[in-house]
Amino acid sequence: NELSSDLGIVIDAFNEMTEKLYENEKLQMEYEENRKALIANISHDLKTPITAIQGYVEALIDSSISSKENQTKYLKTIHHNAIYVNKLIDDLFLFAKLDMQKLEFQYQCTKIRPFMDDLIAEYRFDFSERNIQFYYDVLLEEDVKVNLDGKRFHQAINNILNNAIQYGPAVGLSIEVIVYQQKDAVCIDIKDNGPGIPTEKLPFVFDRFYRIHRERPKETAGTGLGLAITKELIEAHGGKIILSSNLNQGSCFSIQLPICQKNDGEIVQ
Ligand code: ADP
Repeated sequence: NELSSDLGIVIDAFNEMTEKLYENEKLQMEYEENRKALIANISHDLKTPITAIQGYVEALIDSSISSKENQTKYLKTIHHNAIYVNKLIDDLFLFAKLDMQKLEFQYQCTKIRPFMDDLIAEYRFDFSERNIQFYYDVLLEEDVKVNLDGKRFHQAINNILNNAIQYGPAVGLSIEVIVYQQKDAVCIDIKDNGPGIPTEKLPFVFDRFYRIHRERPKETAGTGLGLAITKELIEAHGGKIILSSNLNQGSCFSIQLPICQKNDGEIVQ
């Protein structure tokens, strides 16, 4: 009996070990699959615009495009594609640094109200130029502070606002930014009345290279990295980002950051 119970313990330990090995192997395989998909994505995303640039430049060199109007059209397409490649490379660098935890953050305990006022002031002109209806409100005390790396946090908000503009309707777009306090956190809600995101796609929106609207309707094409970067940046601040959206009903990105108790401007290690 003693022998069989000893044997039972050995068998259990062995099973547990096998399960762990299997889990590790599964994780390793998933990691490999992700890595392969990532390389395939990057290669594809770089190759498409570069092939276009090559084709248009060759056509211009051959002088097969005679009219001035068409030449300008080709040059604009080349420019557009070059901007896209540049943005993709910038995003990839940033993402790689975040991934390897090599991005240095300089956190300061910062009053959120003046910080957001300044940030929003930068967008007002662009919003009014584009006839975007814009609503901004801060519902918290003057001296509520959060740990911020101003430049990185600005970048996170910029990605969200930029998406709202890029995917929103050309006419009738409205954007709302509300800052408020909820227990020990500052919340920043960024709401738009754009196309929205179908419920079944919500879990993937923050994944790298995931795009629903493959072609951005406006300006430059997207890289599918913007929201993945945004999420990493917010999480590096000890915060979180939650998306609620419904198809055809707009989207709301809600950022939550823990409140900081230190003195204003104090460097946070
Ligand atoms: P991209 O570079 O393609 O904009 P993001 O990571 O910023 O990549 O966004 C991922 C996808 O989420 C986008 O391709 C788009 O389909 C969708 N998306 C992001 N923001 C919005 C929004 N405000 N309204 C509707 N769809 C959005």
